[in-house]
Amino acid sequence: MTQPASNAAVVLVIEDEAPIRRFLKVSLTEHGFVFKESLTGNDGINKAALEAPDLIILDLGLPDMDGLEVTRRIREWSTVPIIVLSARGSDKDKVNVLDAGADDYLTKPFSVPELLARVRVALRHAAMIAPEPDGAKFSVGNIRVDLVKRQVFVGDVEVHLTPIEYRLLVAMIQHAGKVVTHNQLLRQIWGEGYGEESHYVRVFMAQLRRKVEEDPARPKYLITEPGVGYRLKVE
Ligand code: CA
Repeated sequence: MTQPASNAAVVLVIEDEAPIRRFLKVSLTEHGFVFKESLTGNDGINKAALEAPDLIILDLGLPDMDGLEVTRRIREWSTVPIIVLSARGSDKDKVNVLDAGADDYLTKPFSVPELLARVRVALRHAAMIAPEPDGAKFSVGNIRVDLVKRQVFVGDVEVHLTPIEYRLLVAMIQHAGKVVTHNQLLRQIWGEGYGEESHYVRVFMAQLRRKVEEDPARPKYLITEPGVGYRLKVE
């Protein structure tokens, strides 16, 4: 086991199930994170305030309150990244907690590489307080976007997107690596009054994929998260 560096990220795990806490403790400490734990929602909210963790991993099913309530309470005063743990088949719970401000989710059972990928993406997003100098240009695979000139290239060929397609692509870039719900995309692209029209997103996502994906039926970058939304795959 490696000794955590002095600048190691502190991860608070709020989870009542001992085997999952143990799995997270071993996986995270082995990869240089500092591990803290809470067994209830109330204790988790207190520790989120007292220990100022860099990231929270939160189980949706806790003995004293559900993860949705814990997320809402923490979001009243903190922007700390929150990754929720959910059981398979609880899409509605995932969507609700993401819309309440959680950053991402892991479906049980999950692997160590999945866990580490989600944790790294969430920490990287949290660190992006100011735009980076090269933040005006984004590339993934053979897709390149110049956010200043509003140009999109696939390989060397410029692709012309409609304004909505372009805003959808930019929204996915802003959340690169993280899941984005239909609701979040609707509000960001069409405005606050929207939330139920997830077919809008599906239509424009299909159009966008036809323009930037090699095989739109099997997208490599603009991935569907079934029942939840989409993820721009970056690693
Ligand atoms: Ca639980």
